[in-house]
Amino acid sequence: MNSKKNVDIKKILDKIPKQRALEEGDVVTGVIVQTTDKIAILSLEATKKQHILTPSSSGVIFIRNASDDYVEKMGDVVRIGDIVKAKIVEVDKFGFKFAINEEELGVLQSNCSKCKTPLILNSTNIKCLKCNTINLKKIAKV
Ligand SMILES: [Zn+2]
Repeated sequence: MNSKKNVDIKKILDKIPKQRALEEGDVVTGVIVQTTDKIAILSLEATKKQHILTPSSSGVIFIRNASDDYVEKMGDVVRIGDIVKAKIVEVDKFGFKFAINEEELGVLQSNCSKCKTPLILNSTNIKCLKCNTINLKKIAKV
């Protein structure tokens, strides 16, 4: 690689609006793509332009970071498909670790686990207006 080319690349990069990698403390939005009893996998969506996201921008919510109240299993706070607002509590080589145990963090959008009707997020026990199924959630207070 010759040095002239390097200079040109730097000039081009300087013109691009500054972006930075996500770091501890950043609040992000993503979708739950997998859950087990003890963890959920959150895949980030490119909602904030100043942040660099790659297709593999995802990470883990451990059950201890899901709620300040006792939670028996992850499915009682989030489920696959939920749109979730989360805070990055750790970044390591394996990816992000997220927390949703603060008031403004948690589920922003969700569908009934049984009939897929969009839920009205107004309590931790949400009754589906269509099928009356009770859906448990950790809701983001906005
Ligand atoms: Zn339902």
